[in-house]
Amino acid sequence: MSTPQKATLTFLGAAGTVTGSKYLMTLDDRRILLDAGVFQGDWHARNRDRFPIDPASLSDVLLTHAHTDHVGYLPALVRHGFRGPIWATEASIRLAEIVLRDSGRLQEQAAANAERNGHPKQDPLYDSDDVENTLPLFRAVEWDTNVDIDGIWARWTRSAHILGSASIHVEFGDRSVLFSGDLGRHQHPILKDRETPPGADIVLIESTYGDREHPDPDLPHEDFADTIRRTVDRGGIVVVPAFAIDRTETVLHALVQMRRAGRIPEVPVVVDGPMSLRGLEVYTDESLGELREDITVADFTDLDLTLARTSRDSKELNGRKEPMIIISSSGMAEGGRVLYHLQRLLPDQRNSVVLTGFQAEGTRGRELEEGARQVKINGRYVKVRAEIVRDREFSVHGDASDLMDWLKDLDKEAEEVFVTHGEPEVAKLFAERITDELGWVAVAPKYGEVISLLDDDWDPQDLDPDAPEPQAHSTEPRI
Ligand SMILES: [Zn+2]
Repeated sequence: MSTPQKATLTFLGAAGTVTGSKYLMTLDDRRILLDAGVFQGDWHARNRDRFPIDPASLSDVLLTHAHTDHVGYLPALVRHGFRGPIWATEASIRLAEIVLRDSGRLQEQAAANAERNGHPKQDPLYDSDDVENTLPLFRAVEWDTNVDIDGIWARWTRSAHILGSASIHVEFGDRSVLFSGDLGRHQHPILKDRETPPGADIVLIESTYGDREHPDPDLPHEDFADTIRRTVDRGGIVVVPAFAIDRTETVLHALVQMRRAGRIPEVPVVVDGPMSLRGLEVYTDESLGELREDITVADFTDLDLTLARTSRDSKELNGRKEPMIIISSSGMAEGGRVLYHLQRLLPDQRNSVVLTGFQAEGTRGRELEEGARQVKINGRYVKVRAEIVRDREFSVHGDASDLMDWLKDLDKEAEEVFVTHGEPEVAKLFAERITDELGWVAVAPKYGEVISLLDDDWDPQDLDPDAPEPQAHSTEPRI
């Protein structure tokens, strides 16, 4: 493709918030979406906003990785006419199938529950049929290979965040844009190392932890281990809300390490949830070639491990009173089987809850993290007497130094850096740090903001006439 006459990028998500990653690239008449995530937490009502352009007019979607806040909106696009290919790595496609099927069911349930609770009838954002219509659109890409997407080059490079996660470098004519996707630390405990993509004229970088450094302790996860020891001593149960994809696997890996080192007693470990178990199957599929060479299946399973697949398996756990560790999704306690465990176990001070991931504003996980005395679950307020512990070592997002290093390793200076995927204050602080340390133009864009990807003068006439504008969002009661 020669350099387009007009080329813009619109921030349709992960701007002003951490979730909802969606970046619309308009290259002359072509429209390409980079990631298609749903909003979570306080912003979730915006998922209901009309998509600012006709989804049928998108030619392609490129995906960085399979987390819901990067793929969960795909079936909504398909429901409203999108039929183009969705490009992603093989491992991302395998995980996206799991995530989207689960999400289709959750969307249907949420609509049904809302109606049952007396709210006006509302169609789900999408349903399982939309999900099944989405899956055949996936196209697998090779790592570090220029993929020809109808005249545009795109290249996926390992970002060591979750299985299959990538940064995506896009080139059209003599211009280029680099999307960091979500970036892991320099080294991931189970995945192959992060690699450096080619530099670009315009760079988007995530900033989830752009304001902090992760701990680097001599004894990994000691707070977690100590919580397990204390809880087992007092006869309690440890509940670990964990994202089904990636976090369940890294938690299991950490428990195996602790157990092998004799740092925790031999205690039953239950992974509760079909989605977590399907994720585990993909993670332990060695044919994908995504794990570090020294990692084997035993590094996830060498425990007194029970896999609770069916809801009957899950309900049986209610009858077990002995100390154990229950790992269950969702990671921010916004849905899934973990809610039932929390409802039952939060009121007892012998128990503990170990939060293992980023807790977005407005989620139950965040409320627990901030010391809520009660939380609302399934329409009831539940007393919080269990011990709440936050293990920050599990982050699969780089800290501020990891993010800076990623920028510094690029082989060219960016003309502009856009800092996305962070809470507003954090994104702004990190943008300032980039300007201070590298002297580059760095900005935290606003939701709905449009930028030019060309290097000549800005002419507002060149903008896509249908360019979306942020709109007031509908309100949807939280259940
Ligand atoms: Zn992610």
